Amino acid sequence: MVTYNKVKDILEKVSLIIEENKIYLTELDAAIGDGDHGLNMSKGFNALKIKIKDLKDDDIGKLLKISGMVLVNTVGGAAGPLYGTAFMKASIAVNKKSEMDINDFINCLNEALNGIEMRGKSKVGEKTMIDTLYPALKKGKELLSINKSNEEILNAMKKSAKEGMENTKDIIATKGRTSYLKERSIGHKDPGAVSMYLILSVIVDEVLNNKGE
Ligand code: ADP
Ligand code: MG
Repeated sequence: MVTYNKVKDILEKVSLIIEENKIYLTELDAAIGDGDHGLNMSKGFNALKIKIKDLKDDDIGKLLKISGMVLVNTVGGAAGPLYGTAFMKASIAVNKKSEMDINDFINCLNEALNGIEMRGKSKVGEKTMIDTLYPALKKGKELLSINKSNEEILNAMKKSAKEGMENTKDIIATKGRTSYLKERSIGHKDPGAVSMYLILSVIVDEVLNNKGE
């Protein structure tokens, strides 16, 4: 079980990894977008870190909802409302829960994906953050249904997320700013797919206490 305090710790680690990758994400976005993804994300996740620091509650749903609201209000660009919606939607799956298990985690990601698809009017295969989240969730559901261990499920989800993220190199963008580039977007990873991978991988590593990669 992952407790309220652990979720808080994980969110802090997410904010750190985004900060560490601020320049990298911005470089990726500079190649096929407008070069602000790292800055947008760092602004949002720093604000999130500050906002949740002194929260003393026991409701993971409320924690995620507040996080989503901070992201919507502080991250600029397309990614802000999308990540914000993802967190706010995920909060529904853990409403009033003080701890969560693998089922809850999968439910959170399911809600998050639905939220992003709805808000972004997008789906898998369009060279976005969805191309990381979708395969990870699919793998997670599949392994959960055959009762694999948490460790096996989470590690496999991380691997699928990574493959999905890498695959965005080969996709022509049809959503967001990058779609203006058409086939010139080929050969570059999508910045949002990379930030989504960073977030998912840090969650897995923290839950499993993995040491680095
Ligand atoms: P902007 O494109 O407004 O500059 P960011 O650079 O912060 O915003 O974020 C760009 C990322 O947002 C893209 O790499 C992509 O993953 C994601 N994105 C953009 N539009 C959509 C959409 N409609 N659906 C899903 N994700 C999207
Ligand atoms: Mg951008």
